[in-house]
Amino acid sequence: MSYCISRFQTIRRLTNEVKVGSVGVGANNPIRVQSMTTSDTQDVDATVKQSIALAEVGCEIVRITAPNVPAARCLKEIRTKLSAAGFGHIPLVADIHFLPQAAMEAVEHVEKVRVNPGNYADKKKFAVREYTDADYELELERLYDAFSPLVKRAKELGRALRVGTNHGSLSDRIMNRYGDTPLGMVESALEFLRIAESHGYNQMILSMKASNPKVMIEAYRLLVERMQQEAMRYPLHLGVTEAGDGEDGRIKGAIGIGSLLLDGLGDTIRVSLTEDSVYEIPVAQALADKAMSLWHPDQTTAANAVSSDSIDPFHFAKRETTTLALADGCAVGPELPPRVIVRVSSVAALPEAAAQLASPRLKDTPVEGILVPIHSAADLSALQSATVALPTKFLVLELAPQLTANELAPLLSNVRGKIVLLRAFAEDSIDTLKSFLNLVGSRGHFLAVSTTAKKFPALANFLKQFGDGNVMISLAAENFSPKSNSSTHALGEYRALVEALNTAGIRAPIWIRNTAHTAVQPHNSFLSKLLEASILTGSLLCDGVGDLISIETEADLLRATKLSYNVLQGAGARISKTEFVACPSCGRTLFDLQTTTQRIREKTGHLKGVKLAIMGCIVNGPGEMADADFGYVGGAPGKINLYVGKTCVQYNIPQTDADDRLIALIKEHGKWFDPEPAVTD
Ligand code: SF4
Repeated sequence: MSYCISRFQTIRRLTNEVKVGSVGVGANNPIRVQSMTTSDTQDVDATVKQSIALAEVGCEIVRITAPNVPAARCLKEIRTKLSAAGFGHIPLVADIHFLPQAAMEAVEHVEKVRVNPGNYADKKKFAVREYTDADYELELERLYDAFSPLVKRAKELGRALRVGTNHGSLSDRIMNRYGDTPLGMVESALEFLRIAESHGYNQMILSMKASNPKVMIEAYRLLVERMQQEAMRYPLHLGVTEAGDGEDGRIKGAIGIGSLLLDGLGDTIRVSLTEDSVYEIPVAQALADKAMSLWHPDQTTAANAVSSDSIDPFHFAKRETTTLALADGCAVGPELPPRVIVRVSSVAALPEAAAQLASPRLKDTPVEGILVPIHSAADLSALQSATVALPTKFLVLELAPQLTANELAPLLSNVRGKIVLLRAFAEDSIDTLKSFLNLVGSRGHFLAVSTTAKKFPALANFLKQFGDGNVMISLAAENFSPKSNSSTHALGEYRALVEALNTAGIRAPIWIRNTAHTAVQPHNSFLSKLLEASILTGSLLCDGVGDLISIETEADLLRATKLSYNVLQGAGARISKTEFVACPSCGRTLFDLQTTTQRIREKTGHLKGVKLAIMGCIVNGPGEMADADFGYVGGAPGKINLYVGKTCVQYNIPQTDADDRLIALIKEHGKWFDPEPAVTD
């Protein structure tokens, strides 16, 4: 737990306060929500208008790109007009890439300047060369000379700085020494911090953004650990960059930002979406509110400390589990993708559910397990006599506590296919649970044990004694329950469960269940359900935990299924469609990102496993696209550059031809297949 006080409760990391104008970031301040304008910065009125629109929906800090010195000069007028319109309390941030001169101009006018260590006065030509220690030192001295004037001026004027590192846009010097890695990102930022500190300056905020939530999470964790080693307490700005739009963009942001917020990290956040910036704010606010509702009042002690944590938070590794063959072609285990389960409300609802789940729309995202509550013997009989052919691979029966293994035995004889019995574990029911274990063992079925934090040790003992060969485990923990009003949360409880199992050598697969208190569920918006499911499921998947998932907070089965697959895709745990990396756009953007992204998605969204980057400009170089297979990048107004990996293969092609040329390129590289005919139910 070297990077946070607790991974099991939300205990906020102590930081210094950084003042961005009148807005305090870090320390005891709430999580600040911010976004960025997308207009041309030199179109002052448009930029002021967008800034006001952002402030009116609750954005607390507004960032504006300053791609050159004339644009940086415009910040003066933008600041003046925004203040005159009654928004003097909204601080502005200049976003700088490459040009120290633009930063020196911008710092005169706005409350904060963001620099990217990967391209601020440092070489970034993707050159491969060996840097001797002497070469490296020489470059650091050059960096010192280039960055110091900005630090000194920021100190004189009382401005803040953000050292904003991006995965994929590291300097050649860093890339050659550390690679395009979280460690490289962290070292890159630390070099800038040390230079600033040598001038007695500490009004800095840090970010470590990446489009891949796993990389982003690891980079922030590593940054905090390294800062702690150097007694640095700078606040963090969290964000997943190039997350895209719609459900996918929100999910990626929630996985990366939400996971860190629940670890107590993060003082200001931006949810990047390829949509109008105002749509970012409600998402960011909801994430911030959820995290703040969990903040533990005592920042120094964990009330429910778990003494060990066997997960390496800096390197992804999937948890080792036993393999369970739940059905033909549907097993769970360490090398296998997590399986998707949906819940129906009752046995009576099964026929309608079966019809819905047979929809051709779910052809590429099939539901594998269907969970049905069994309250009584009458439900059992109804299930027995039901003639429904389920389109799923296996059936899960959620058993009420009073049902016995004897009552179930005859049913299991008559049911075709595999069954999973979901049974709550209570310490006083060891014999009962044993009878279920024997029952499923003798019929080749499976037992899913639902437990609570208090019962982990007893459950681990039970499984050690009686075997975990056909068992999977889940948690009866409501995600963000309004009842709990404490810093404990389902994510922490799952982590504690994993720890108890690992300590006891139990390798049973884990089923991540997203459940909510039934009283609040109807009032929960879809956004809220999406964010909560992404935070819990995505964070665990990024920890390498999770073999089955169910999002039971969403009653619409098609929506719940799509959401499950989208969360799996966002966490990189199971790929079911094309992966899009799309920048959110800004004043540098060279084409309409929203319509272009939608158009390209319509043409290429069926290419499962292909990763496409759509970038408004090449400011950060092809590295910004990180590991995309193909890139569609603004090269000049009306002109597009196409990339294969990080190599530009077609320059300045007219935008009108670019879609076709992109598709031709995908075909040339053997990654194209024709879409299936449109689906109608
Ligand atoms: S990649 Fe997109 S968001 Fe980034 S600077 Fe270029 S246009 Fe702006």
